[in-house]
Amino acid sequence: MTKRIVIIGGGPTGLGAAWRCVERGHENWVLLEAADTLGGLASSVVDDNGFTWDLGGHVLFSHYEYFDSLMDDLLADTWNQHVREAWVWMRERFIPYPFQNNLWRLPDDEVAACVDGLLETLLEPATEEPANFEEWIFNSFGRGVAEVFMIPYNSKVWAYPPARLSKTWMGDRVASVDVRRVVNNVLRRQDDVGWGPNATFRFPQRGGTGAIWNTLASRLPGNKVLTGQRVTGIDTSRRVVTTQAGDEFPFDSVVSTMPLDELLTRVTPDHGLDESADRFLWSSSHIVGVGVDGPTPDALSTKCWMYFPEDEIPFYRATVFSNYSQWNVSQPGQQWSLMCEVSESIHRPVDADSIAQACVTGLRRSGLLQADHEVCSLWHRRLPKGYPTPFLDRDATLDAVEPALRERGIYTRGRFGGWKYEVSNQDHSLMQGVEYIDHLLEGTPELTWFDPVTVNRR
Ligand SMILES: Cc1cc2nc3c(=O)[nH]c(=O)nc-3n(C[C@H](O)[C@H](O)[C@H](O)COP(=O)(O)OP(=O)(O)OC[C@H]3O[C@@H](n4cnc5c(N)ncnc54)[C@H](O)[C@@H]3O)c2cc1C
Repeated sequence: MTKRIVIIGGGPTGLGAAWRCVERGHENWVLLEAADTLGGLASSVVDDNGFTWDLGGHVLFSHYEYFDSLMDDLLADTWNQHVREAWVWMRERFIPYPFQNNLWRLPDDEVAACVDGLLETLLEPATEEPANFEEWIFNSFGRGVAEVFMIPYNSKVWAYPPARLSKTWMGDRVASVDVRRVVNNVLRRQDDVGWGPNATFRFPQRGGTGAIWNTLASRLPGNKVLTGQRVTGIDTSRRVVTTQAGDEFPFDSVVSTMPLDELLTRVTPDHGLDESADRFLWSSSHIVGVGVDGPTPDALSTKCWMYFPEDEIPFYRATVFSNYSQWNVSQPGQQWSLMCEVSESIHRPVDADSIAQACVTGLRRSGLLQADHEVCSLWHRRLPKGYPTPFLDRDATLDAVEPALRERGIYTRGRFGGWKYEVSNQDHSLMQGVEYIDHLLEGTPELTWFDPVTVNRR
């Protein structure tokens, strides 16, 4: 008899696993998705006013030929190609990204502090290994850049103090600060942008990022993809997965993409696994979509996204979402749109009732929205789990629970299933599903979850 595979979750990881079964001609599988729709965090919605929104600014990167070919095949010639153009907005001005290459745009005293700190990292490099992400930032960039940008920005995006984050998720990435280049740019007061002709990304012409995953889902046999089926239990003695509706699905192997902390409380017998559940840290995300009447202002017409490190502005990033596709607005050419992202945790509480309006105020304050810009649509979604925090003892925790689950036939993979932020984008996620199936059916190693450094070096 062939292996009975149960796939929990219909986001990119689960869809990748299902698609790989189809490709390999393996028919004994079922996908159980709690929601009524597929795509998970990579889905898109159309608001009441006809504006399309992703659940956060999704930019498609790829570390895999397999992923590239699949994307080519899925949407063929209905992709838009974009040159990445990222900026930082602070001190009431735009600074091209990467920040450290464009220090000259800062006020003079901050330029001096940043250059001084960078020189210090060269003249007196740290001798001890950094113990956490905050120390890594100080060692890599020096005090000036750390205090002016890196610490405030990272505190905002992660919603935890950087000292509470490990630095292992950075892999062997060395911060690329070319001090000679930085100083040269300051002295010449010249911009040095990080995007060149090759820094491009693609985006679906219609339907937002979700179009990718809806198209993939449409190629799966409908009778094996069950929506509205929330998994509530996995009995590893009887080898059955149970859903809220009371249905049971027997399995030889399960790939679970539900958040790992939740999974640990649903496995029986638990063998103490659930004791690890409350070690996991995450942040929630608020996505606020702002539709505006009129043409895109010239100052924003080529910009993709902007980082906001200052606390006076509630969001850490704003994307000119209508620049990704004209069909992201209801009346192309006559409207444009901005999407703001705000992170929340116990360290950074967010008032869900007022955050949308606070974002509009922040957009006006930063000049992205001018006085004559009329907001015609305001959309807000809170994602209870947005970012899987790389907390300090994450790796030790994962090294304890992952093998214990695997021994019981449960592979926990994907953004919150695998809980490795460094391999939690769409390409990584889909490939974790694909690699799981290949491993199960052919015994090939799963590279992405086990060796993020090698994958991300590609
Ligand atoms: C704010 C934000 C910005 C992002 N930006 C980018 C980007 O720029 N580029 C990029 O490539 N990626 C980006 N991502 C990441 C991208 O969304 C993820 O890579 C991808 O969605 C992860 O897929 P997944 O299948 O692992 O998880 P998910 O998408 O979370 O899917 C998991 C699925 O499991 C279902 N589920 C949960 N519990 C159960 C249960 N008990 N029973 C049944 N089903 C269940 C959920 O409903 C969900 O559909 C971003 C994500 C966020 C939140």
